[in-house]
Amino acid sequence: MSYQDRRSPDPLRRRRRTTPRQRALLELLKRDNHFRSAQQWHAELRTTVGVGLTSVYRILHQFAEQHVVETQRAEDGELLYRLRDTAEHYHNLLCRICGRAERFTLDALEHHTEHVARQYRYADVNHHLDLYGTCPDCAGVAQQE
Ligand SMILES: [Zn+2]
Ligand SMILES: [Zn+2]
Repeated sequence: MSYQDRRSPDPLRRRRRTTPRQRALLELLKRDNHFRSAQQWHAELRTTVGVGLTSVYRILHQFAEQHVVETQRAEDGELLYRLRDTAEHYHNLLCRICGRAERFTLDALEHHTEHVARQYRYADVNHHLDLYGTCPDCAGVAQQE
């Protein structure tokens, strides 16, 4: 759900004082750019840091508000997180198995959104378009040279 066009300053630079748990989770996010649920991040984090699931939820929620992480719904509606590295508007093609994501934009959709908004005089119109599939690695397809 990174559908915001407002440009914000680099969130990592504006960060306030962080706790060791926040830093540990941030390091983990930097090493792995796949979308993962709070439970999955918690499972990885607790191998190195003693931390409860509730804390991981809270930290991820803070990171999302600070635009440090971006969020994306899984096919079943669960919220997934990964480190955010751009404020650009785009959509994700998400692997439902491993959380890998490919970014894309669709000019026709962007223009059509504006058109419909103008037509009905709606303000602040937003849109979501999520695509789900199985990535080549998870499908076991041999990489093409
Ligand atoms: Zn995959
Ligand atoms: Zn769009």
